[in-house]
Amino acid sequence: MSLSTNKKIVDFIQYLFPGKEHISLHEPLFIGKEREYVLDAINSTFVSSVGKYVDQFEEMIRNYTGAKFAIATTNGTSALHMSLLLSGVEQGDMVITQPFSFIATCNAISYLKAHPYFIDIDENTLGLSYEALKIFLNDHTYISNQQCYHKESNRRISVCVPMHTFGMPVEIDKIVSICQEFHIKVVEDAAESLGSTYKGQQTGTFGLLGTYSFNGNKTITCGGGGIIVTNDERLGKLAKHLTTQAKLPHKWEFKHDQIGYNYRLPNINAALACAQLEQLDNFITNKRETANKYADFFTSVDNVRFLKENQNSKSNYWLNAILFEDHNSQQEFLEYSNSNGVMTRPGWDLLNTLPMYPDQSNDELVNARKIHARLVNIPSSVRL
Ligand SMILES: *Cc1c(COP(=O)(O)O)cnc(C)c1O
Repeated sequence: MSLSTNKKIVDFIQYLFPGKEHISLHEPLFIGKEREYVLDAINSTFVSSVGKYVDQFEEMIRNYTGAKFAIATTNGTSALHMSLLLSGVEQGDMVITQPFSFIATCNAISYLKAHPYFIDIDENTLGLSYEALKIFLNDHTYISNQQCYHKESNRRISVCVPMHTFGMPVEIDKIVSICQEFHIKVVEDAAESLGSTYKGQQTGTFGLLGTYSFNGNKTITCGGGGIIVTNDERLGKLAKHLTTQAKLPHKWEFKHDQIGYNYRLPNINAALACAQLEQLDNFITNKRETANKYADFFTSVDNVRFLKENQNSKSNYWLNAILFEDHNSQQEFLEYSNSNGVMTRPGWDLLNTLPMYPDQSNDELVNARKIHARLVNIPSSVRL
C-alpha cells in the first residue's frame, strides 16, 4: 500500500469529520433529553435499583425490537451470562461461538465453567458462518436423548452464540434452524447490532434469548448497561427474578428462593438509556449515510474493500470496516492513520489464540485469520 493511498484515506476521513484535531473511532453523543431525564432521576432520589426509568426502558426495548420480554441489566456481559444460564448451559458443556468477537462473549461462557468452541466466520458477514457450522455439526457431533454431543470430547453442546459483528447481521435464520435440528439453543450476542435487521426482523430476536450492550462505545449508551430480550415467558420472568437477587415479593421480608445476581440496571443509567433510545433511529440513519459515503469513496481506492451490509440485511453500521489486500498494508495504514490524528483499530485478537482458550477448535478458521490480518475499523461516530 502506497503512502499516497494511506494519505488519501486519512484525508477523506478528516473531510467526513471536520474540525477535529483527533478523530476517535466512536464517540457517544448526548443531544436529546439525557440531561432532563438524568436530573429527574436524581431529583426523585430513585437512582438505584428501583424507579420508573428501568420499566420505561424495558418497555421501549420491547416496542422497538418486538420481543415480548426485556430485562435490563448492568451491562452486556451480565446480560450474556444470565442468558447462557437461562438457556441451560452447565459446567463442562461446550458452547459454540465465533473466534472473531469481543472477549465478553467467551468470558460469559467461562463464568458457567463451560468451554467455548470456535467455528469459523463468514467473510462477508464477519459473524458465525452457517456453512462452517453445518459442516461441524454434521461431521463432529451425535445426538443422544435429544441432546447434541461433540464426538471427539463427548462434551454436551448446549448452546450456540452467534455475534452480529460491528452491526452486520449473520445469516441468523439458517443458524437458528440448523441449531434447532441439532437440539442446540441459540443465544444471540447482539451487543453491537441494536437496530440492525435481518429479513426485516430485529437482530437479537431470533434466538431463544438475545442480548444488547449500552457501553460507552456502542451505537447508543447509558454509561454501562445491557438488556436481555426473549419471547419465552418463563425465561423472561426468571431473568427478572435472577437479575434482582432472586428476591420474592413481600412487603417487608427478605425472602430469596435461589442463588440470584445483582445484575439489575440502576434507574439513573436507565434514564440515560431512555433518552438515547429516543434517538436511535436518527443515529442509525446518520450512520448509514456515513457508511454510504465511505462505500462510494472506497470504490476509488485500489486494493481496499469497504465492508457493506449483505443481502437480506440492514446494518446499523456501528463500526465501519475496511479490508486490505494483505497484513503489511493493514499495519502500514494503522501506523499512518494513528500517527496522523485518526483513530483506527484492527479487529480483536482471535479468541482461540488467547492463553485461556488453546485449540478449542478443529477448524483452520481460515476466514477469521484472514479478516484478523487485514481488517481495520475506521471512525464511525454519528456526525453532526
Ligand atoms: C460490547 C460487547 C459486549 C459486552 O458489553 P458490555 O456492556 O461492555 O459488558 C459483549 N459482546 C460484544 C460482541 C460486544 O461488542
